[in-house]
Amino acid sequence: MRMYDIIKNKRDGLSLSKEEIDYFVQAYTAGQIPDYQVSALLMTIYFQGMTNTESALLTQSMANSGKRIDLSAITGIKVDKHSTGGVGDTTTLILAPLVASLGVKVAKMSGRGLGHTGGTLDKLESFPHFSIEVSNERFIQLVNENHLAVIGQSDALAPADKLLYSLRDVTATVDSIPLIASSIMSKKLASGADALVLDVKTGSGAFMKSEADAITLAETMVAIGKENGLDTTAIISSMEEPLGHAVGNMLEIKEAIETLNGAGPEDLTKLSLTLGAHMVVKAKKAKTVEEAYIRLEENINNGKALAIFKKFIAAQGGDTSIFHEIEQYPKVTNIQKVEAATTGSIYSIDAEKVGKAAMILGAGRETKTDIIDLQVGVLVERKIGDPVHKGESLFTVYSNNEERTKRAILLLQEAIEIKDQAQASKLIKHVIQ
Ligand code: URA
Ligand code: CA
Repeated sequence: MRMYDIIKNKRDGLSLSKEEIDYFVQAYTAGQIPDYQVSALLMTIYFQGMTNTESALLTQSMANSGKRIDLSAITGIKVDKHSTGGVGDTTTLILAPLVASLGVKVAKMSGRGLGHTGGTLDKLESFPHFSIEVSNERFIQLVNENHLAVIGQSDALAPADKLLYSLRDVTATVDSIPLIASSIMSKKLASGADALVLDVKTGSGAFMKSEADAITLAETMVAIGKENGLDTTAIISSMEEPLGHAVGNMLEIKEAIETLNGAGPEDLTKLSLTLGAHMVVKAKKAKTVEEAYIRLEENINNGKALAIFKKFIAAQGGDTSIFHEIEQYPKVTNIQKVEAATTGSIYSIDAEKVGKAAMILGAGRETKTDIIDLQVGVLVERKIGDPVHKGESLFTVYSNNEERTKRAILLLQEAIEIKDQAQASKLIKHVIQ
């Protein structure tokens, strides 16, 4: 097989065969095809697109390029969850203990944050001594015993995706829906779960700014899942404004605890319960999404979900004293309010700008090697549609650095629009299965 012919076939609008896809993925991973040929192929895919069958084959080939995780030692149906990335998105921390409280086994591999979006691992490390370095045996034991464990996503997972992503990043081929869909799904397929619930974000703070693109991405991922035997459902949810109020690691832990206590923000609570309910149904622990939703709500109200969260943190070495001293957090040297310049209703909140403000404060990484400050962040005091009077607080900024505070505040002032008329925003837009 020649790489030249594969590029030419794709250029001329033909569909690639399994053999052609496997050839270029495996040979490229082995260092046998030069970057310029794979770059040319990626660009033809960018323009020609891929059928769902091609995307499914690409996903399978990338998943097979490294070690696939075997979770068969965990009894029952393993359900994973993935979000395409948002600002202040604390849902994993809430729904993982929630669904575990109904007996769903959650063997979660999570990543770190980069850019304006946060990562679950960073948030969890807000608990001093919490360890994501757990042996495979211990990981499986924890999931079997507590129904929940979280570890770092191994570098050995889908190495072809890592290589292809780096190449896409420098050849303007990242934003191709079949390439994004197969990239995400290859890692999920290699992670060994039986079923998957996707949270595909759309709006100003999301990767997919338009709803139509978010729907196409979701449909592609659901089709890829189906062709590869991974039972997948996608929820399309709004990222027009940050989710909940907290953006920043310790702030989000605090928000997760409040939500598991039944006192969380409405949008975050609703999205966590919705995604969780779909996971519970996939794990066959409830017959309908409606039934699952109600039972999950019960386990918030009776404290069961919070108890599992605490047990999970303790099991991975985390300091649980934070749970009863949470009002003292975050611990920072500088707390400042951003006030409304006019009276009216909150018309829009640019989630990406709020995420960037949090990153400037040190809550997120600009580059992979940056060291983050787990205590800093932004509390979004008002949400879209809320009334506000001139001089009232819009944001609270938690910081450990005066100069960064100033830069963050400038960005936050730009992030919010106050108008006379109110605007309604819908949180959950579609369910695709
Ligand atoms: N996230 C991924 O994992 N891959 C992409 O291509 C885009 C977002
Ligand atoms: Ca939040």
